Order: sequence, then C-alpha cells, then structure tokens
Amino acid sequence: MKVQLKKGLTIGDGGHIVVQTMCNTHTSDVDATVAQCRELAAAGAELVRITVPSLKDVPCIAEIHDRLEKEGVNVPLVADIHFSADTAIEVAKVVEKVRINPGNFHPDHAQAKARFAELIAVCREHRTAIRIGLNHGSLGKYITDLYGNTPLAMAKAAMEWLRLCIDNDFYNVVVSLKSSNTLTMVEAYRILYGMMQEAGVIFPLHVGVTEAGNGDSGRIKSCVGISSLLSQGIGDTVRVSLTEDPVMELPVAKYLSERYGDGLPSSIVSCEVRDRVAYALYDSPSRERLLMDMSCDFGRMLLDREIDDVKISGTYAGADGQPVDISAGGFGDYLEDELLQAARRRFYKPEYIACPGCGRTMYNLQDAFEKVKARTSHLQGMVIAVMGCIVNGPGEMADADWGYVGEGNGKVSIYKKNVPVLRHIPEDEAVDRLLELIGEDAR
Ligand code: SF4
Repeated sequence: MKVQLKKGLTIGDGGHIVVQTMCNTHTSDVDATVAQCRELAAAGAELVRITVPSLKDVPCIAEIHDRLEKEGVNVPLVADIHFSADTAIEVAKVVEKVRINPGNFHPDHAQAKARFAELIAVCREHRTAIRIGLNHGSLGKYITDLYGNTPLAMAKAAMEWLRLCIDNDFYNVVVSLKSSNTLTMVEAYRILYGMMQEAGVIFPLHVGVTEAGNGDSGRIKSCVGISSLLSQGIGDTVRVSLTEDPVMELPVAKYLSERYGDGLPSSIVSCEVRDRVAYALYDSPSRERLLMDMSCDFGRMLLDREIDDVKISGTYAGADGQPVDISAGGFGDYLEDELLQAARRRFYKPEYIACPGCGRTMYNLQDAFEKVKARTSHLQGMVIAVMGCIVNGPGEMADADWGYVGEGNGKVSIYKKNVPVLRHIPEDEAVDRLLELIGEDAR
C-alpha cells in the first residue's frame, strides 16, 4: 500500500525512505514552533511531527500550518495525540497526518474502537492520513491481559486496529511499533510484517527505536534497530529519536534513508568472519559515518546471533581531514562495546532510556539526562530512564529499573520499575535522591 499525504509526499512507494522528526518546542509557542519547522525542513525533514496535548492546542497547530504554507515551507505536519480522541478528531481537519495510539483513546476497548471509527470518517473526509503508533509499554490493558507486554502483543494490537481500517475501507494508514529495546522492536515489526503479508495488505511502516538516548549510543542503537529492518525491506519512513536538538537527528535519518533507499555503500574495505567473530577493516570519511556504517554492517547479524563479536580496525578521517587510526586511544574497543550493547549482546555500562522530548516536556531534559548519566555511569547493566513528562513518560519506560521523570514546576518523580516511589522532588536534589534509593535497594 502507498500513503499519499495532502502535500504530495508518498510513503511506501517501495523506493524512497521518508525522513521525519519531531519538534520539541511548546506547540502553544507558535513563533518558536514555526521557526523550528522551518529549520528542520531546511535540514532535510520531509515530515515534521508536532505534539497536540489538548483541544486548546488545535488552533495553535492550525496557525503553525497556515504560517508555514504562507512562507512556502511545504513540509507536511503530523499531529501527535495521546489519550484524547476529541483532539485527534478535531486536528485531523487541519494537518496532513495524525499519529495516535488508539488503545489509549478510551479505557473501555469497545469505546476506543468506536472513537477510532469516528476518526477514520473525519480523515476520509479531509484526506488526512493516520499513523497507528504503538509503543512497547503503552499498550492498552485489553491487549496486555491477553499477550503480556511482548512483541507479539504489540503486533497483535496493531493488527487489530489495521483490521478496523480494512473493514472501514480506509487505507491511508502508516503503522509503527517502537521500543527502546532493539530486540523487542525488531521482533515486533517482523511479526507484524508477517501478519500483514498473511492478511494480504501491507501498510507502510514507520520505523524507529524510541527513547534511544543521545550521543554515540543513541546513534548506534538507532542504526542497529532501524537497519536490521530496512536491510530486510521492512520500513518506509524513519525517525531517529535522540535526546538532542531534533536537527541533530536528521543526518542519521538521511544516512539510513540513502543507504537503504538509494544504495549508499558502507565505508567497509573488507571483512572476514572467523569463529563467529567479524574482523572488519574500514576507511571511513568521518567518525560519525564510521559509527553508522559499523552499526548497519553488523547490527542485524548481532541481533540475529549470526555472529557473537566484532573487531574493528582501519582509519577514519578526523576533523582536519587526516586519517585517524581507529584503534588509537582505545576507540576501537569503545566502538565494539557500544555496538555489542546496542544489539543487547554484552552490557558494559548502564542501559539508558531517554525520550527525545517534545512539546509536552516539563523540564530541561537534555541537562537532566547528562546529570543522571554522569552520576550513574558505574551501574553496569542497570536500566535507567530519563523521561520528559509525567503523562507519557512512566508508561513508555517499559524496561527500566529506575525512572527519572519531569513533573513540571521544577519537580521530578522517581520510579522504581514503573511504580512511583518519590514524587515532587526539587530538580536540584533529584539525582541525589535517585542514587540514595538505588543504594538502599542494593543493600
Ligand atoms: S515521554 Fe518525552 S517524548 Fe514522550 S510525550 Fe513525554 S516529553 Fe514527549
């Protein structure tokens, strides 16, 4: 199937992989959001998502949409909706696409299905596309009671909503099944793809590793998960979620789009596999390109247990253009550790889950994440989440041992395995409280 957006963008044409990202400005700050959309479109975003937390934000996104059009910025907008069917239905009259998790439209499953059918009717009338976006950790109780919080549950839930679209003869639909866990995410998409093949209707897939964190780890984790699917022909549009300025996501997303759409070659020179260890030689044009090539060359093989380890050597071009030896200063060892951790084969440090932030973010998420990382780096193997808002954060940090969640008004909540254990902690004390709790728990 192809999805045709009102502004002429096609998703699922079997060739080009569409690059998208999301604003992290407050939607009510129309000037800032217009400026960020303009910047993101200029940097290569083909689709920009904007959160719409409630009905009162619908006029704001309508104004953003109008102003961008008047400026000649033709990027389609996706409204990101959680919980409020009324908001989804209203905003569908304005934007090119609405992203929803229909499972959280209503606590009663039958009511959620009825509201979803209403949304389909409005989208049909206004030629608006829908993304059914289910994340590991935010599945409805109805589905987790049946299948647990598993990749199968994610795929079953998506398939149920897709069947409702088929029954309503509505095919302007993209679907995503994200998780911060690369194994979970890859398995969920593969199961869903098989189910869609069986059903005889393959809806376009939006692929991403959610809450991937930042820096090298976020890039490597994203490339491992996304490339594992794209290399098998699964995926039509990508978002690389980084806890950074969203413009920083675009070079990575564009690389993935080019590599698996246009056939951009890896900078690998040679590779030999002996005793399930891949020995790879690179001559890479940059440090970032090396990270991405390596993650795509070996991520799927590690996830699928075709190999157990990777040894990397060769050179990359430094900032001055001169070749840098990959093994210098232990950089090669560091890359191998990062790659093995992203593929969940060996944990050499804590596993961080951090959302990218959006218009719902309640504090300085990027600073908070850096502070938490700096103080917890010794906790090898522990899963620590840093999330931007109290509405979605707790639900989405599915695998975390500990969660650090912005409440707003300078306050933070701390969660242990999805249960709040401390609330309303002033931000400047919150990392200390988190470490005390982790210490007490260990004793
Ligand atoms: S968890 Fe983060 S990305 Fe998700 S809605 Fe909240 S602030 Fe936005």
